[in-house]
Amino acid sequence: MKIQLYRQPHHTFLALLLMGAAVFFVARNVHFEARPEEGAKVVEWHSEEELRLLVDIENGRFFEDREPQESYPALFSSGHEVKELPEGSKVCYLTFDDGPSENTPEILQILKEYDAHATFFLIGENITGETAPYVRQILAEGHAIGLHANVHKYKKLYRDIDSFLADYETLYIRLKDEFGVETALFRFPGGSACTYLHGQGKAFISQMRHRGFTCYDWNVSGEDAVGKPTVSSIKKNVFRNVFRYKTPVVLLHDSAQTSDTVTALPDILKRIAGEGYTFQSLAEADEYIFPKNR
Ligand SMILES: [Zn+2]
Repeated sequence: MKIQLYRQPHHTFLALLLMGAAVFFVARNVHFEARPEEGAKVVEWHSEEELRLLVDIENGRFFEDREPQESYPALFSSGHEVKELPEGSKVCYLTFDDGPSENTPEILQILKEYDAHATFFLIGENITGETAPYVRQILAEGHAIGLHANVHKYKKLYRDIDSFLADYETLYIRLKDEFGVETALFRFPGGSACTYLHGQGKAFISQMRHRGFTCYDWNVSGEDAVGKPTVSSIKKNVFRNVFRYKTPVVLLHDSAQTSDTVTALPDILKRIAGEGYTFQSLAEADEYIFPKNR
């Protein structure tokens, strides 16, 4: 719904009516976003300018026109366009966490051979002089990148919302300045339901949505970064669940410790492609968060 304010004197009554409606919708929105138990700020407004800003929020222009004035002001994305898939299409979203790493070039080579696009959720600390070119290659070859963490340390990252936003802002600025990419995608280390988040997942997601970002968990995991994975266990884990979904989001890793993932990858791509799936990045995909009953 679009709301507009009118200044013309003969439209005073209409303006008041619309302002009333605006305040109602905005108040509803603000109330929803600012539940005190989540530590959110209570928003009050006094001037027409402030009211206009709040109306803009409701009208969806919030992220375009707004002056950064909140905490972590650089952590704002203009969002991304979600494209609906044609009815019945099967799309596999391969995702690689924790990169870039020494394995990135080989992963990219295999993806190319299968005409596959994927998403890389990056760790800022892993972008070094040696791996920075891999990030450029990821982008040049049409894959998507997303925020994972600047420093992948659960305790510090998830200590509170400030700690989290400060970490994400650092990574976001770096990706923007060094690689010219303003990603709208992110994935929590451990996923949105992990115990390290101490039940704060929902509040963190809502904060990130407010800043224009979209959260992606997964519904299929190769389990390639837990326990003692092998090439065959990674394939088995993927194949066990991937065909249950029309749009599976597959969790794999791109790190120096997960070379078995690289070895397993050609077979994973071959078999999933054989079942009629294409491989796309999450750049135009809708949010995916673990189902509630998980
Ligand atoms: Zn991770």
